[in-house]
Amino acid sequence: MAENVIKIRNVKKVYRMGQEKISAVNNISLNIAYGEICCLLGKSGSGKSTLLNLIAGLEKPTKGSIIFNKCHIERMNEDQLAKFRQQYVGFVFQSYNLLSTLTALENVTLPLIFRKVPVAERNKKAMQMLEAVGLSERANHKPSEMSGGQQQRVSIARAFINSPQVVFADEPTGNLDTKTTYEMMDLITTLAEKNKQTLVIVTHDLEIAEYANRIIHISDGKIEKIEQNTNRKRATIEGGSKK
Ligand code: ADP
Ligand code: MG
Repeated sequence: MAENVIKIRNVKKVYRMGQEKISAVNNISLNIAYGEICCLLGKSGSGKSTLLNLIAGLEKPTKGSIIFNKCHIERMNEDQLAKFRQQYVGFVFQSYNLLSTLTALENVTLPLIFRKVPVAERNKKAMQMLEAVGLSERANHKPSEMSGGQQQRVSIARAFINSPQVVFADEPTGNLDTKTTYEMMDLITTLAEKNKQTLVIVTHDLEIAEYANRIIHISDGKIEKIEQNTNRKRATIEGGSKK
C-alpha cells in the first residue's frame, strides 16, 4: 500500500461576501500518495484552486485537517507555514509569477536564497535546472524578453530547484498555445517522475488531466468521483524528456 504524503480530512472553506456565504470547499477528504501525479479536474468556480491553496498551506481551512508528512498544517502559524512551503513544496502558476526585474537565472535561484544556499552553489544549481528545462541560453534574459512558454519553463525550473516533495501546478498551461501546453505538461510530469516527486495539477481541461495517474473530479466544492488513469499520457515531445 502506497504511503500518503498528504491526508485531507473533512475540509471546508467558507468565504463570506457580505451577507452571503460561499462554500468553496465543502467537506472534502482525500489522500495523496508519495510520487503520485494527481489532477483536480472541474469547471471554473468548482473550488479547485481553493482546495489546492489549502493543501499547499497558502490558505487556512474553515474546518477540518490537512496533514502533510504527519504535520497538521492547519495548526501552523504564518512563520511555520512559510518555512513549511520553503522546505516541502514548489509552485507553478498560470501567470508564471516571475519577478520582472530579475533574470531567468536569478528567478530560479530565489528559493535557494531563502534557504541561504551560498551564491556559487545556487548559481550552479540554477544553471543545471535551466538546462533541464531547455533554457540555458536564456539565463540572462528578463521575463519580458521571453515568450510565455519560456517564462513558464523558468517558473518550472524554480518550482523544482529545491527538490520539493510536492509540486503544485494551478492551470499551468492556461495562457499557452496547444503545442506549448503539451511541452509544459511533458516537462512537468517528466521532472516529477524522474525525481519521484508528487505532483498535484489543477485544470478544467480533460486533455491535461490525462497526464495524471488519478483524476479527482471536483464539482461545487465536493469530490464527484475519483478515476484511476492506468494508462496515463506520457511525454511525446522531445523537449519534455530532455536531460
Ligand atoms: P476554481 O479554481 O475551480 O475556478 P475557486 O477555488 O477559485 O474555483 O473558487 C471556488 C468558489 O469560491 C467560487 O465561487 C469563487 O467565487 C469563490 N472564491 C474563491 N476565492 C474567494 C475569495 N477569496 N473570496 C470570496 N470568494 C472566493
Ligand atoms: Mg482556479
